[in-house]
Amino acid sequence: MPASTPMPVFFHPAQLAFKPLYEWAYGEKIAHPETTARAESIAAALDAEPARFELRRPEPLPASALRGQHTPNLLTVYHTARGLPDGETFHPMVFPRATRARADPTNMHHAGAFCFDSGTPLDNHTWDAATWSAACARQAALEVRRGRSRLAYALSRPPGHHATRDAFGGYCYLNNAGVAARLLRRHGRVAIIDVDFHHGNGTQSLFYDDPQVLTVSIHGDPREFFPWFAGFPDETGKGKGEGFNLNLTLPGGADLSGWTEQLDEHALPRIRRFDPDWLVISAGLDAYHLDPIGRHDLKTDDFAAIGDRLGRLGLPTVVVQEGGYYTPDLGINARALLMGLSDGAAAAASHRPG
Ligand SMILES: [Zn+2]
Repeated sequence: MPASTPMPVFFHPAQLAFKPLYEWAYGEKIAHPETTARAESIAAALDAEPARFELRRPEPLPASALRGQHTPNLLTVYHTARGLPDGETFHPMVFPRATRARADPTNMHHAGAFCFDSGTPLDNHTWDAATWSAACARQAALEVRRGRSRLAYALSRPPGHHATRDAFGGYCYLNNAGVAARLLRRHGRVAIIDVDFHHGNGTQSLFYDDPQVLTVSIHGDPREFFPWFAGFPDETGKGKGEGFNLNLTLPGGADLSGWTEQLDEHALPRIRRFDPDWLVISAGLDAYHLDPIGRHDLKTDDFAAIGDRLGRLGLPTVVVQEGGYYTPDLGINARALLMGLSDGAAAAASHRPG
């Protein structure tokens, strides 16, 4: 991308209507980390550099964008939550296993049948915010697919990579990266790389049997960290998708050298061998050293270094925001990652023959 063309950044103010106030973490009531200030911090940092970034609103999400990705029951739960009184938040508390078939998505008290943790509450604005968040990912994918930009960024909030076909969790309701990847998949092969501190269990599950979508995730070892039950290296895909899912784990405390080792020796060679037409980056920023949830040791410049490596793949790329909870530095970290990507892509373009 020439430096003279600002990178499109998709964001809609309705994403800020959803304000989860608290969550239950190991029996303790804590302030909810997934705040509106996260998105505001990133938007402000990018808006301050109009030569590099251009903030735009996405078109509304068409219903077709979620069809086949999430079950009707899951979407009905969100619609049910729209009936909650203003200011009231519903926290699922009962998570049925054997009796899940009885679950009624129009009964708020059954929401736990469509949810996998206690940290992801619902209120009457969840649906609006989540659909606009997904709309950002769709618009960024459209922008890249139409060839208008080589690189587009979806400031998606709430995040999406933990949301599975039929369950919300991990602060995620709709899988935004899934929306982008499914749109691009109609026009070629898609590689998704997830650099959030946490494994993208939802994204993995959506494409687990699909050989046209390669999913790669670098994350904190699930023996030590959320989501606990997925993200292990022996999860490699199934059926025709066998061999098209790659999980790369790092222990707590990992720094840039650990990250670049996984990137340079495993993730990037695998993506190059797959030879995709499109790249989707699930861009979590919670591997930051000050993050209150992540437990890695990346600094702001390290996000630029990671972005540069990914940009040098030279692929048309959609970046979808995921986690990242140290709000004061979220803006500069997002900017670092995106500028790194842009610079890496420019370097790749200058080496391309013809
Ligand atoms: Zn995360």
